[in-house]
Amino acid sequence: MEQEIPQADFALVGGSGTLSSNFPVNSVSRDVKILSDNLYFTTPYGRSPAFRLFSVGEKRVLTCRMHGWRSGVTRADASRQVFWTFREAGVKRILSEGGVGTVNPLLDPRDFLIPDDYLDFSVRKDVMLDGRYLLIMRDALCPELRETLIAATKRRFTGRVFTRGIYAVTDGRHFESPAEIAMMRGQADIVGQSIVPEVYLAREIGACYAGLYFVVNYGEGLRREWSHETMKDIFYQDAPMIGEIILDAIRSIDARGTHCACRELRKETLLKDVYDSISAKG
Ligand SMILES: [Zn+2]
Repeated sequence: MEQEIPQADFALVGGSGTLSSNFPVNSVSRDVKILSDNLYFTTPYGRSPAFRLFSVGEKRVLTCRMHGWRSGVTRADASRQVFWTFREAGVKRILSEGGVGTVNPLLDPRDFLIPDDYLDFSVRKDVMLDGRYLLIMRDALCPELRETLIAATKRRFTGRVFTRGIYAVTDGRHFESPAEIAMMRGQADIVGQSIVPEVYLAREIGACYAGLYFVVNYGEGLRREWSHETMKDIFYQDAPMIGEIILDAIRSIDARGTHCACRELRKETLLKDVYDSISAKG
């Protein structure tokens, strides 16, 4: 059944870390409540994926699993359904998480990284909502949310936490070839499939966006062959901790940024005037 979109200031775009823990159902935190589940909405881009609404203290958080990806729906449409819903819900601050591969040879599985920039190697069609805005991609990953994620990760995790780095985005679903990893080396630190188009759509709706990423495999040809078993272990063993880090971060942030400029980094597009003047000249 289709539902009314509830209001929420916060959102989590769930990735592989929170998937296996059915986040936040299995959380041990007492201030976490599931408010409603299996919410489906009608969007201009098709029926949305299932959303869950929960609260952390007084804060209301909307979340969906695995970026809304599902079979029979293009990833572009899935992303539009998710971010259109966030806009209607009034979401202002969005967190994400996910497993990534390495490009920087100094990284190992189970390292955490909170990137401060990205490189878009996707062959995406132009994924946007209504295209009213020119999107300035300076500080695409909100500095304030990043600071909060870094602090929350260091409180819960005693291993290595990298406080900056570049996330290279590829389309997937396949992983990258050794030649692709070699090409990215020196340009990026980690590689994955899920920070784009999310950063563009977050900026378009005027929301902050940042993500917590954990290394699950070595980039192909970089160090040694990685094992699928290790990757699975990381997903299942570390998922509860990743969920608790996200909840800690939500507890620490306000609905609106006090020292980030995310909302000012979208401007009304000038193209409308350009098109109007061309047609006026006939
Ligand atoms: Zn921000």
